Amino acid sequence: MRIGIAGAGLCGRLLAWQLARQGHSVTLFDRDSGAGEQSAGLIAAAMLAPYSESLRAGNKVFQLGCRALRQWQGLLSLLCHDSGVKVELRHSGSIAVAHRADALELDDMSRRLQALPAVDLQRPYWLSASELRAAEPELDNFERGLYLPGEGCLDNRALFAALGQAIDKAGGRWRRQQQVETVGAGFIRSGGASHRFDYVFDCRGFGAGTDLRELRGVRGELLWVRATEVKLSRPVRLMHPRYQIYIAPKPDHFYVVGATEIESESLAPITVRSALELQSALYTLHTGFAEAEIVQASSQCRPAFEDNLPRIYQAEGLMRVNGLYRHGYLLGPTLVARALALFENRAVDPGNGSLEEAIKVIPA
Ligand SMILES: Cc1cc2nc3c(=O)[nH]c(=O)nc-3n(C[C@H](O)[C@H](O)[C@H](O)COP(=O)(O)OP(=O)(O)OC[C@H]3O[C@@H](n4cnc5c(N)ncnc54)[C@H](O)[C@@H]3O)c2cc1C
Repeated sequence: MRIGIAGAGLCGRLLAWQLARQGHSVTLFDRDSGAGEQSAGLIAAAMLAPYSESLRAGNKVFQLGCRALRQWQGLLSLLCHDSGVKVELRHSGSIAVAHRADALELDDMSRRLQALPAVDLQRPYWLSASELRAAEPELDNFERGLYLPGEGCLDNRALFAALGQAIDKAGGRWRRQQQVETVGAGFIRSGGASHRFDYVFDCRGFGAGTDLRELRGVRGELLWVRATEVKLSRPVRLMHPRYQIYIAPKPDHFYVVGATEIESESLAPITVRSALELQSALYTLHTGFAEAEIVQASSQCRPAFEDNLPRIYQAEGLMRVNGLYRHGYLLGPTLVARALALFENRAVDPGNGSLEEAIKVIPA
C-alpha cells in the first residue's frame, strides 16, 4: 500500500520502519530536518521506569511498562540487523535515593511500590549503605537506596539515527521541512498541497492539536550534561517533596537530567528557575557534577489526553496514534504494535488484560 505518515518522531519512526520492512511504500512528513530535533522523543531521557512511573500513572501503565523492557530488546536487535547501528539499552535496574531530611519520601515510595500487582520483574528492595556503594560506588553520601529491578534507559539519539537508516534501507521516503497543516482519511495536506495515499497515519505528537482538539501539551524541561568525572552506570532518582529529578546515563559520559512537568503548552526555552532546580539537585546528588558541561538545555511538550493514557483514533484510510504523554519509551512499542495490528486487521494478544483498557481505540 502507499502509506503516508505525518510526524517522524518516536511513534512515526517506529511505524514507518515496520511498515516499510513489510514492503509498503512509506512516505514520512516532518517539519524538521529529518533528525528529529523538533520531537519530544529525541530530547527525552528515554527512561524505562515502570516502577517509578507507577507512582503517578498507576497499575495499567506499570503493567504495560514492564512489557516494554522485553519488547525493546527484541526491537533493538532487529533494528541493529536492519540498520547496522547498535543502540545501547541499559536494564540492570535503577536506584532511588533521598537526603536524610527527605527520608519519608523514599519510605512512602517503597510502601506504594510494594502494593503493586506481581509481575515477572523482581520487587523493589532496600540497599544498605554498603550494598548501595557496591552497586554505584559514587553514591557514597547516601545511607540507603531503593533498588528498582529491571528499570533502565536507552540511547534515544542512537535510536533515532538507527530508525532513520533502517527506514532508508527499507525504501522509505522523506519529506523533510514540511509543515503538515491537516491529516485526513487518505490524505496529508502540507504546503497548501494535498498528498494522497491509500492509508495515512497521524503521528505528530503534540503537533496534532489542530486535528485533535482533546490533545494537550505538558511542558517538560531537561538538561543534557557531559561529566567525565562521574561514573554512574544506572539511572538514579533523587526523591524530594517538591521536585524529583532523575539522571539517565548515556554513552560517552553524557547524562540526561530531568525533568520538569508543567501544565503549559509553552515551547519557550528552559526557565532560570527550572535550570536552577535541576542543577542544584544534580549537584547535591553527586558533587562530581560541578564540573559537568551543560551541552543542551531543552524544553518540549508531552502529548497527552485527559486521562494521560495513549489513544488510537481510527477511520477508513486513517489512524491517529497519540497521547504517549511521559511514556513514549515505556508504552511506545505496545502502542505501535496495537496500531499495526489494527491496520492489518489482526487480533492482538491482550497480555495481562490491561492492554485493551489502557489503549482506547476510538472511531475518528
Ligand atoms: C522533557 C521530556 C522527557 C521525557 N522523558 C521520557 C522518558 O524518560 N521516558 C519515556 O518513556 N518518555 C519520555 N518522554 C515522553 C516521550 O518523549 C513522548 O511520549 C514521545 O516522544 C511521544 O512520541 P510521538 O511520536 O507521539 O511525538 P514526538 O516524539 O514529539 O514526535 C512528533 C513528530 O511530529 C512532528 N510534527 C509535529 N507537528 C508537525 C506538523 N504540523 N507538521 C510536520 N511535522 C510535525 C515533530 O517535528 C516530531 O518529529 C519525555 C518527554 C519530554 C518532553
